[in-house]
Amino acid sequence: MNSISSLVRDNIRKLKPYSSARSEFSGRGEVFLDANENPYETGLNRYPDPLQHALKERIAALKQVQPGQIFLGNGSDEVIDLAIRIFCDPQTDHIITLPPTYGMYQVGAAIADVKVLEIQLNSDFQPNVEAILNAANAHSKLLFLCHPNNPTGNLMAPSAIEALLNGFPGIVVIDEAYIDFAPEHSTLKYLDQYPNMIVMQTLSKAWGLAAIRLGMAFASTEIIEYYNKVKPPYNINILTQETALQELSQEAQKANWVQALIASRARLVAALSELPMIEKVFPSDTNFILVRVNNPKDLYQYLLQQGIIVRDRSTVVLCEGTLRISIGTETENQQLIQALKQYPES
Ligand SMILES: *Cc1c(COP(=O)(O)O)cnc(C)c1O
Repeated sequence: MNSISSLVRDNIRKLKPYSSARSEFSGRGEVFLDANENPYETGLNRYPDPLQHALKERIAALKQVQPGQIFLGNGSDEVIDLAIRIFCDPQTDHIITLPPTYGMYQVGAAIADVKVLEIQLNSDFQPNVEAILNAANAHSKLLFLCHPNNPTGNLMAPSAIEALLNGFPGIVVIDEAYIDFAPEHSTLKYLDQYPNMIVMQTLSKAWGLAAIRLGMAFASTEIIEYYNKVKPPYNINILTQETALQELSQEAQKANWVQALIASRARLVAALSELPMIEKVFPSDTNFILVRVNNPKDLYQYLLQQGIIVRDRSTVVLCEGTLRISIGTETENQQLIQALKQYPES
């Protein structure tokens, strides 16, 4: 791989970041007359900690990393957006994505006027390592690996991940949004070994906190320093910081949810496999399942009429004929199965 600084855009390397009032002093303040805030205490009148020290300490302990190896974003969306803007020169550099995968990488690149090189997954939904490494050149700044992958639900093979970490000339971004459902497969353990890697996680799925928008990036301190340079100064609001800090102590609750969802997933897979219109249920290491059906559009519309919303993935490459179904509560899953049993064509 190339050095991190040689991969970063010139303008970002040279950037003098915005210096916020709260980051310009050190020591203990008691009278804050520096930020034009309203002085009357409401609990919300002060700007939040720009670097979220307390929350990062907590996350560092939970994930066994250093606080300096963490960046927090306004959802994973911000983690993706900033990575593209740190590393990719518009119109000249590109990112590599591996369809079928999460759509936000491509949208983030399009917004930044950065090209996308797509290297389709193999038919078993694993990366085509050889094709990726053959296609990569000095303009390949970011490679997005979704592990487990959305919408296919599978983990990427460890041998493929390692080959890409070792061979890719740019930064390998591993999106672990669903890793809480298969935690033993997390690539966070490689963090100290690979300076060219960014691991993304989120509180939006297993932690049940999609509404507060907290995405996490774990990377070498060098990469995190670039993130801190380009991020909006107060990108994580105080309500999110405080809620996250509270909720991260509810590890037992999260573990219970994960266990319950995995058990529900197994029951849903079994029930779906019995139904005549279901041609294939793909194995999943996430809180959703991908199913191939003989009439995806009709079935989608039928479920919609029953008030049940699933995701139509039938026009996505390698996912032809499929619907993606999130695991709901037991009651919701039963409603789905009942509705499917009453589908007129079956
Ligand atoms: C849901 C999801 C995310 C989470 O995005 P947030 O912005 O953190 O809510 C990230 N990546 C993938 C692949 C997802 O499916």
